[in-house]
Amino acid sequence: MTTTMLDKAAIKKKYADEREKRLRPDGNAQYQRLERAFRDLATDPHTPWVERDPVTDHVTFAFVGGGFAGLVVGARLREAGVRDVRIIEKGGDVGGTWYWNRYPGAQCDTMSMIYLPLLEETGHIPSERYAHATEIRRHCVRIAKQFGLYEHALFHTEVIELEWLEPKKCWRVQTNRGDDFTAKYVGMGTGPLHVAKLPGIEGVERFRGKSFHTSRWDYAYTGGDGDGAPMDRLGDKRVAIIGTGATAVQCVPHLAKAAKRLFVFQRTPSSVDVRDNRPIDPAWFRSIATPGWQQRWYDNFVENQSQGTPTEDYIMDGWTEISRRIREAILRLPPSEWTPENMLAAFEDADLRKMEEIRDRVDAIVDDKETAQKLKAWYQQLCKRPCFHDSYLQAFNEPTTELVDTDGKGVERISETGVWANGRHYEVDCIVYASGFEVGTDYTLRAGFDLKGRGGRRLSEHWQEGMRTLHGLHIHGFPNAFMVQPNQAGNLVSNVPHNIVDHAKTIAAVVSHAEAEGFAEVEPTQDAEAAWVSLILGGNGSLLGSPDCTPGYYNNEGQGYTGRYRQAQGFPGGAKAFFEHMERWRASGTFEGLRFGNDGTEDHPRSAEMP
Ligand code: NDP
Repeated sequence: MTTTMLDKAAIKKKYADEREKRLRPDGNAQYQRLERAFRDLATDPHTPWVERDPVTDHVTFAFVGGGFAGLVVGARLREAGVRDVRIIEKGGDVGGTWYWNRYPGAQCDTMSMIYLPLLEETGHIPSERYAHATEIRRHCVRIAKQFGLYEHALFHTEVIELEWLEPKKCWRVQTNRGDDFTAKYVGMGTGPLHVAKLPGIEGVERFRGKSFHTSRWDYAYTGGDGDGAPMDRLGDKRVAIIGTGATAVQCVPHLAKAAKRLFVFQRTPSSVDVRDNRPIDPAWFRSIATPGWQQRWYDNFVENQSQGTPTEDYIMDGWTEISRRIREAILRLPPSEWTPENMLAAFEDADLRKMEEIRDRVDAIVDDKETAQKLKAWYQQLCKRPCFHDSYLQAFNEPTTELVDTDGKGVERISETGVWANGRHYEVDCIVYASGFEVGTDYTLRAGFDLKGRGGRRLSEHWQEGMRTLHGLHIHGFPNAFMVQPNQAGNLVSNVPHNIVDHAKTIAAVVSHAEAEGFAEVEPTQDAEAAWVSLILGGNGSLLGSPDCTPGYYNNEGQGYTGRYRQAQGFPGGAKAFFEHMERWRASGTFEGLRFGNDGTEDHPRSAEMP
């Protein structure tokens, strides 16, 4: 359908009306944590808890989080000769997101070739374009084993305090298991989505049936397993799933097949475009996997995500299609008309066409016209996390499955026997909360600790007016500490691992330099940090997170990332420009903006030997 045939004004009004319905004054405060509802919901169903003695030693590098960030940084540090890297992880093994999320159908949404880190180093050939969760988790274990990261790791352990010891020039690390050890350097890779949340409605703890969050999937109850074995214990069960985000899109088809009855409680529909998963042919893989291939693929993806000159697209997926569409719309304008207003209008037109296509897809797939109507997303594609799936919409044709659309209001409460929505009670045996993860809350609240840097200053104080870093990685007043996260850096939300891979290179380069030169500490200067923050604030922000969008975590529940939150945006010019900047910064070898030193060092515990 062409834009001229669309009633643009009517569609934009519909977008605004649907947004208005969903706006709520409590924003992020509408949610509650699992353990606040009741403790059992937060329990790890995947690995038994093992008693152990507290650890009281010294390591060179302690890293908080055993997901992709901890693994890739750990691997690069081990390659650089750091022998004792300690991962501290709240899960029972490595994997992070992929440790917790084992729900049926879980798989990556970004192509495996660029989503799974260290493929070249490990030699693993992904089995599918979009690998399933078990394969990704096993890949994490492979990395940990290959790079010796299990040796010092602490699992089922949460850091509760990280404190810089000035005279000793090292960090004191305390955990909820009584550990109290020191580390010359600390890294933090707690991940953007690691604190699971529930709707803040009453009654969650009163439900007498079985309930769990998707990140705590209980296969002992449902039957089946994360490898796709059918959930044979649900055949006589009525199941409710609350939420229709990217997680629900992946697991609803499996529940629809397994349960006697499935109620899908929807507040806002996801946009669900074509997935087109396929096996990866090992012969093809070997033909492209020449030395340096994965970095070339990372570069190619990011190139195709940016607004520059079009280049051959290795990935050809929904993400690169979004960028290509926006770029083509802009390039259709004569260069003399490249004003910000014209470019925005071209983007809007292209987006309207795409969303019509996605809405038409619902009609083409879903048999029941009323259900199809309710499954249509009325917002721009990048307002909420775009989804790609080839059997989600089809699940609503299963006779077992009923969509309970709440017209933007959400479920009302939970009773002892089921779920209340639209003033009606739905009696069920099991409630699955696909209600997502905390995003817009303060970093220190989500991390569970508040770094105590030089002079006892807390990170929350340093960031009172907003995030302050150099490269999104180093913080003035917090020596020998590294954050692995995308804000004030690449901010490549469609491929989070690329951000991690790049930060890991930087950390390994900085630590190698400090160790080779015998420096006790490294820290960004105040000026360098201030200049970086100004540079970030001088940018245009990103297309994500407009407060005009329907509420969700992309736009801080409709309130936008304004004021102090504005500082958490990415590098001006986007991810490609950031990675190029960092490549030049590392290559220069001058570590501009960082100060290495030994001032006032006393009784500094020696690092493990470097080669
Ligand atoms: P989301 O936050 O995306 O979705 C939560 C869902 O719960 C939304 O549909 C939300 O509705 C709904 N909800 C919240 N409160 C209520 C309520 N009171 N009543 C009814 N519904 C309610 O969480 P997900 O776990 O789905 O996804 C989180 C993120 O994890 C994704 O955005 C993605 O980045 C990542 N992910 C990645 C995958 C991958 O392939 N790599 C796969 C799965 C997830 P509303 O929209 O109205 O707020």
